[in-house]
Amino acid sequence: MNGGANPGDLPYGVFSRPGEPRRAGVRAGDHVLDLAAALGDEVFSAPSLNPFMALGPTAWRETRERVREAAGRGDHLVPLDQVTLHLPIEVADYVDFYASLEHASNLGRIFRPREEPLKPNWRHLPVGYHGRAGTVVVSGTPIRRPHGQRPSFGPTEKLDIEAELGFVVGVPTRPGERPGAFEDHVFGVTLVNDWSARDIQAWEYVPLGPFLGKSFATSVSAWITPLDALEAARVEGRPQDPKPAAYLRRSARWGLDLTLRVELNGEVVSEPPYRDMYWTPDQMLAHMTINGATLRTGDLFASGTVSGAGEPGSLIELTWNGAEPFKAADGRARTFLEDGDTVTVTATAPGGIRLGEVSGTVLPAT
Ligand code: CA
Repeated sequence: MNGGANPGDLPYGVFSRPGEPRRAGVRAGDHVLDLAAALGDEVFSAPSLNPFMALGPTAWRETRERVREAAGRGDHLVPLDQVTLHLPIEVADYVDFYASLEHASNLGRIFRPREEPLKPNWRHLPVGYHGRAGTVVVSGTPIRRPHGQRPSFGPTEKLDIEAELGFVVGVPTRPGERPGAFEDHVFGVTLVNDWSARDIQAWEYVPLGPFLGKSFATSVSAWITPLDALEAARVEGRPQDPKPAAYLRRSARWGLDLTLRVELNGEVVSEPPYRDMYWTPDQMLAHMTINGATLRTGDLFASGTVSGAGEPGSLIELTWNGAEPFKAADGRARTFLEDGDTVTVTATAPGGIRLGEVSGTVLPAT
């Protein structure tokens, strides 16, 4: 339930003990370090990481050093099984991209079989849309099967997942101010499951894009892994043709050699490679602000479904929109999610990096 971050990653979260208010913590193995108590800093008494994330990279780096020392001392460590984990950030805006060439091509083939799979804009800009910040929920929150037009009205019959990587903004920008470097604004990463009702989505998305097929729930891990912990995972981004516009040119290595793992009821169904993503997160940040849109502390932008060749991050791809069921461990033919299913996404990278899991169980429609 709490996810398998290892002590070297020292991811940040928000926890509470019974009858006590929420406060910030860092995961150290099977414990959470009470940051306000261990570091004597009131910024960690807040019920979200936002005030700390707003401080910027110098404070983040210094804090990480102090956290390492404090975790080593062994004081102010609370066993994870004695705490409740909460949504770690107050989500400002939520943006979701569509940055995997394999995913975008597969969905183009499924939704628009008589057309070119990729729209003409896709290789020129990271396609994205604004999601619903208010329905971002922490890992472990049950997911109620949504109703909608499919086009006949009723509970979705094509409930799906999207395994994604999310990026959390710490340092905001003022109106008229261009963002600086990616690492001067982005605090860290978190695993995301962008639950999707494919029948609702297919009917509603033309011409303005995803809406109610996505906005009922988006799950994030309870843990935000700081960028500094991902050093060993950084790689060159995937080659791009045509060459992107000047504002989208890469100036640092922000490809990430993370391997996601998607489990359905404990069984691994896919292991999508993040390093194959076409658009890198520095390009996403540059794109979402090039029109003058400002950044806010707590903004969450996600990569879009992470799919690699033969390793899709969604069931619609894995089963080709339900036409090609797969055989689960219990021998049953499976396509989309059933009530009671639990989906868990984890990720690992070289250097022993493990991101905190994102998990959710499907409840029947009311
Ligand atoms: Ca998505």
